[in-house]
Amino acid sequence: MTTGYSGPITFRGPGFVGEDAPALTDLQNCIHCGFCLPTCPTYIATGQELESPRGRLHLIRGVLDGKVEPTDSLLGHLDLCLQCRACETACPSGVPYGRIMEDARASIMDRGVTGRPFGWTLRSFVLRHIVARPKVLATIFGLGRIYTRSGLQSIIRGPLGRVLPEKLRTLESYAPVVGKSAYRDRGTLARPVDAKGRVALLTGCVHGELYPEVHHATVRVLDRLGFEVVAPPEQGCCGALHSHAGDAEAARDLARINIEAFEHAQVDYVLVNAAGCGAAMKEYGRLLRHDPAFAKRAEHFAERVQDITEFVAAQPFADVPLGPVSEDVTIQDACHLAHAQKIRSAPRQILNAIPGLRMHELDTPDRCCGAAGLYSMVQADMSRQVLAAKLEDVAHTGASIIATSNPGCSMQLENGFRRSGMRVRVQHVVELLDASYRAAR
Ligand code: SF4
Ligand code: SF4
Repeated sequence: MTTGYSGPITFRGPGFVGEDAPALTDLQNCIHCGFCLPTCPTYIATGQELESPRGRLHLIRGVLDGKVEPTDSLLGHLDLCLQCRACETACPSGVPYGRIMEDARASIMDRGVTGRPFGWTLRSFVLRHIVARPKVLATIFGLGRIYTRSGLQSIIRGPLGRVLPEKLRTLESYAPVVGKSAYRDRGTLARPVDAKGRVALLTGCVHGELYPEVHHATVRVLDRLGFEVVAPPEQGCCGALHSHAGDAEAARDLARINIEAFEHAQVDYVLVNAAGCGAAMKEYGRLLRHDPAFAKRAEHFAERVQDITEFVAAQPFADVPLGPVSEDVTIQDACHLAHAQKIRSAPRQILNAIPGLRMHELDTPDRCCGAAGLYSMVQADMSRQVLAAKLEDVAHTGASIIATSNPGCSMQLENGFRRSGMRVRVQHVVELLDASYRAAR
């Protein structure tokens, strides 16, 4: 059984600091009913109150009231939270758990390097200096591409794997397969005759490197639906991972860059095919609420952000000829689509319209797969436990494809299927729609 933290209890000074401190009004909504507990993956795995939403809210309230010290042990309980927000969906009292947790982490980060655990500082360093820097990220994935394409990865996963120390073998098994060329297209991506409107695509940080085919499929689908598609070259990482890790300052800097970039593009909508990024961009208004120069612009920007499935489902997409995709498909609701953006029917509407596609629902399609940004690396044990439950659920459906809408989930599921020898492919919902459109041609 895994619990949050078992190291020394380190006192880190008084409670939450800075403008991001959790709001008492948010916390007061909790009536301690416990309806959220059975939906929480970390509570399911541990059976411990302190690893449940109610327990974590209690800890945060205690720190805010000055009754509990923010020790490393306490922060360990907060850190074991996946931020999947399943508890928010279950809560009858409307407790905004996601923002409470983000605020709590941000205000701990505001205490400076001596006021927070070293791991939090390291995580923020990686996010600022690698994930938020396209050139650094491209270099790292470029090396990964050489590693995969040279065949070295297959050798290490095959014959050489047997002689490698187990720790190294396990570590390597988390490395993604980076076989395809990155998506680097910017500017105008599609310009159909008599375009119905003009939309922009967020190309993101990791997404274009790991899943270029999702961007290609998105652009083709939007083109078929009659939309001009642009990708502003100045755009960057959305800052979702930074927000989740409590680095609100870095998230705000990235949000400002994106708002300026997409404002210049003068589009009707900003479309996102990564649920985590879309959820974060829809919250730019709140993120920049204390910035007088950006608060209003951020709100206006956020209103124009849509997930690709949300946008497509609102179009007459089934009027375009659909060809058969004869596959058994199940669907994983990305947490930041189902729980954060409250979008569940749009991806199903799209999949159910595809001729020949046989849908098999999971028992718990909206339960986290354990990816949760950097969580699979920083909380590897819990991430594996959560993933194991998901793989079992998928196995019961007999599906050969799992449709999802977030690159983090795709990576986590692919790793899980590969390590457990399951023959299931992961595809974005928009890739299946694209396959259907192409089949009709
Ligand atoms: S966000 Fe997810 S992991 Fe965190 S407390 Fe809520 S349900 Fe549990
Ligand atoms: S369901 Fe909502 S009100 Fe009930 S304990 Fe959980 S967070 Fe609190």
